[in-house]
Amino acid sequence: MASVYQVTKEEIEAISGVNPLKCMRCGRCTATCPSFDNMEYHPHQFVAMVERGEIEKLVRSASVFKCMSCMACLERCPRQVQPAKLIEAVRLAVIRKQEANHLRPDDLPALVDEDLPQQAIVSAYRKFTK
Ligand code: SF4
Ligand code: SF4
Repeated sequence: MASVYQVTKEEIEAISGVNPLKCMRCGRCTATCPSFDNMEYHPHQFVAMVERGEIEKLVRSASVFKCMSCMACLERCPRQVQPAKLIEAVRLAVIRKQEANHLRPDDLPALVDEDLPQQAIVSAYRKFTK
């Protein structure tokens, strides 16, 4: 079945600036990921799948939106592959294809309560506003 959102490996590499060929499959990124249990595809798998051009599976996976953008995988990678940037690039590509922009500054006051951590707002903007 054809995808609604056609995203190429070249697009993902251009948006992220990541070269997945640098990955040595050590798994440190996945070992440190706090969203491990919620992600169908884990950080090291994202890298390998982009390298193989399996973008369709990533575009369709909820894993793209389970990443919390904590950047732990980026910090732990000994090869500076930056898996989080690949995940973010897939997320952005999907959002751009959808022409979606779900979060506007004017909407924030009604959504924010005093217990909401600031990081959650930053993360939401990364996911919904670019
Ligand atoms: S940025 Fe995303 S993929 Fe990387 S460790 Fe954090 S939650 Fe996991
Ligand atoms: S930590 Fe870096 S080198 Fe190791 S598997 Fe993850 S992306 Fe690849």
